[in-house]
Amino acid sequence: MSNTKHNMNNTKHNMNNTKHNIENENSIGENGYRNSPSPSRERGLGEESLFPRVGMGYDVHQLVEGRDLWLGGIKIEHSKGLLGHSDADVLIHAICDALLGAANLRDIGYHFPDTSDKTLNMDSKIILKKTMELLADKGYVLGNIDATVCAEHPKLNPHIPAMKTCLAQVIGCDEDQISIKATTTEKLGFTGREEGISAYAVALIAKK
Ligand SMILES: [Zn+2]
Repeated sequence: MSNTKHNMNNTKHNMNNTKHNIENENSIGENGYRNSPSPSRERGLGEESLFPRVGMGYDVHQLVEGRDLWLGGIKIEHSKGLLGHSDADVLIHAICDALLGAANLRDIGYHFPDTSDKTLNMDSKIILKKTMELLADKGYVLGNIDATVCAEHPKLNPHIPAMKTCLAQVIGCDEDQISIKATTTEKLGFTGREEGISAYAVALIAKK
């Protein structure tokens, strides 16, 4: 292992030297030494428009009786619904956190605090729309979203096409840019006991 690491380090060293020589040929500083490229240029930082950005989001809400179940922007018939300050759409919340994370814009709780009267019983589609506006203000467009919802019941697969249609309309993107998957946790943990539903999402964004 140590030999391999040693060789890899040598390779990296040689690559850096090559770049250094190409960029700074005949470039001698006042102190008589060759000028080095700035560390940020050497690592490719400061050229963020060349790179897409990825973000991840995770959210959980408790399943309780007496609440409507909102997932992916649509209402799903079920004996329980998710508890929360807003409509508690756990899938949209995970997607918003992924988008905000990709843009380095903090998180959903920072922009839409659950202590505010403005967000009480708020339709999470409004939160998603405002999240996309925050990204657009920073010059970002969506590449794609991939999300997974973990729920024992109800079965979500029949509802996924409607969720994708709804979210694509809110975001203003093609349905092909949104992937939604549903899984159970094999009756394990709080989702398996039907005490709650969780959602994971990743989002890829890029500068316009
Ligand atoms: Zn939430």
